[in-house]
Amino acid sequence: MRAMVLNTPRTPLRETDLPVPAVGPEQVLVKVHACGVCRTDLHVVDGELTEPKLPLVPGHEIVGTVAAKGERVERLPLGQRVGVPWLGFTCGVCLYCRAGRENLCATARFTGYQIDGGYAEYTAADQRYCFPLPEGYTDAEAAPLLCAGLIGYRSLVMAGDGRRLGIYGFGAAAHIIAQVARHQGREVYAFTRAGDVEAQRFARELGAAWAGDSEARPPDELDAAILFAPVGSLVPRALAAVARGGTVVCAGIHMSDIPAFPYHLLWGERTVRSVANLTRRDGDEFLALAPQVPVRTTVEPFPLAQANEALSRLRSGRIRGAAVLVTDAATAA
Ligand SMILES: [Zn+2]
Ligand SMILES: [Zn+2]
Repeated sequence: MRAMVLNTPRTPLRETDLPVPAVGPEQVLVKVHACGVCRTDLHVVDGELTEPKLPLVPGHEIVGTVAAKGERVERLPLGQRVGVPWLGFTCGVCLYCRAGRENLCATARFTGYQIDGGYAEYTAADQRYCFPLPEGYTDAEAAPLLCAGLIGYRSLVMAGDGRRLGIYGFGAAAHIIAQVARHQGREVYAFTRAGDVEAQRFARELGAAWAGDSEARPPDELDAAILFAPVGSLVPRALAAVARGGTVVCAGIHMSDIPAFPYHLLWGERTVRSVANLTRRDGDEFLALAPQVPVRTTVEPFPLAQANEALSRLRSGRIRGAAVLVTDAATAA
């Protein structure tokens, strides 16, 4: 099979011919139709996340169909369309796993990081971490639901239910979560890179009440803010924009250092917190909610072989919505 492989961080992925993966008893072989390109992939390729398996097939927003299965797989029939997310394995027995917080399991393993992912024509996935996908989305449209959507949704829940929601960084996750927030009756305030009028227009099209530069002060105090941009200097900015009692959620897996800031920005029972990974429950909840909103994803498709181009466009902020790699198997409907 064809795969795009990371051999050494900070070097381009190389198109490689690999054997189709063999499946274990609890695994399914997924024929990959589409795989979203997530900012986390960039952090892996750029060496900011330092513990990938190598060589590695990146990609953790996988949409495909079950092409073969291990002997203990019962819940997924052959041909079933499934999504494979970032969370690829948990121990099931530690205190976190037993308390419904498997996202914090110390021995969790992640797709496209410690497990080969979806930048390939096939991937093997543990059936317990695969999601059946809602109808009404093409393969490419469904891909960004699996991380931008799922972890974005977890971030939205962690932000609390305040009405005025700030979103810093208007990429794949933001364009999905803005729709969910509007559906919940909230006002969305979108913050983009300075001068990125295209992203600001996109945010307004998706119902943002206000869109402007991340340096700007919004016209109203926010109840909460979610940082999808991996920029630590935005933390004090967001704290300055939220009202007393407000929450600032750092949604990314990696962020540049947060600069020192005066205590009065945190005073007034403001909270700063991170969101780590996802639970399967987040996935079940969000994938049931998405078609009800309904969330519409905006995607820029790239052929699998152009993964490096997709990554570099994402790195420089030149993607509208989400970048998605598609294989010949991708369906249009
Ligand atoms: Zn565990
Ligand atoms: Zn991701």
